[in-house]
Amino acid sequence: MTADPQTGWLKVVGLGPGTEDWLTPEARRDLAEATDLIGYFPYVDRVPPGPQVRHASDNRVELDRARHALELAAEGRRVAVVSGGDPGVFAMAAAVFEALDDPTAPAAWHRVLLSVDPGISAMQAAAARAGAPLGHDFCAISLSDNLKPWEVVLKRLRLAAEADFVIALYNPISRARPWQLGAAFDALRDLRSAETPVILAQAVGRPDEALTVTTLGAVDAAQADMRTCVIIGASHTRLVPREGAQPWVYTPRSYGVWG
Ligand code: SAH
Repeated sequence: MTADPQTGWLKVVGLGPGTEDWLTPEARRDLAEATDLIGYFPYVDRVPPGPQVRHASDNRVELDRARHALELAAEGRRVAVVSGGDPGVFAMAAAVFEALDDPTAPAAWHRVLLSVDPGISAMQAAAARAGAPLGHDFCAISLSDNLKPWEVVLKRLRLAAEADFVIALYNPISRARPWQLGAAFDALRDLRSAETPVILAQAVGRPDEALTVTTLGAVDAAQADMRTCVIIGASHTRLVPREGAQPWVYTPRSYGVWG
């Protein structure tokens, strides 16, 4: 494996939510051709064994990881930065561009051949399992207040509810952020009916996947964990009974179709 600055590249690769079936052929090829894998360790661990050098790191060091990736690629390595789901959704692609956008970034980083391999995001996988809850206008909000003030999160939730978007929540809860999801449900209960369908899609595409369909009135934040994508319906989101299973959830493509 030679390190020639002319042949190096950096690809930010989306691994999808879990199962190999949801890894794109493009991502699979780029992972196989990489000399180096960089990412949060559970994601690096998901890449099948191979000759690549693995640089697994802990959470919350995204910028360091991005700089390291740019450095290696500028030296001529073929670097795959891996992210769960889609790398452009609350993930590493933005961190790479932040590193590149830094005025002190070396000129060599700007010459790196850079691309992003899309992946299936958690909300798409969760929606597919539940039916079609994202069938009409929707938004995605990360509940993590590590990178933005909680007031901003609350404002977005309130305005999204007012605008009647279906809302997909990422990063709903963690040991370090135990109360935010409950506070988010409380804020939404003031603005949306208690009958509003709520989907808790846990570890979608993983062996321990679980799907719960409930309502805004009944949902308890303790039912979610950090591997859960929460989808909250809009005013016209509906249920369709499904034999032997929880109902399908879908949002019609237009308002007022069924009255
Ligand atoms: N880039 C990722 C999101 C990273 S943020 C994507 O596009 O999916 C991490 C959050 O994504 C988690 O807290 C959870 O809300 C959601 N998530 C990631 N994988 C998931 C899965 N397999 N099932 C359900 N939610 C998941």
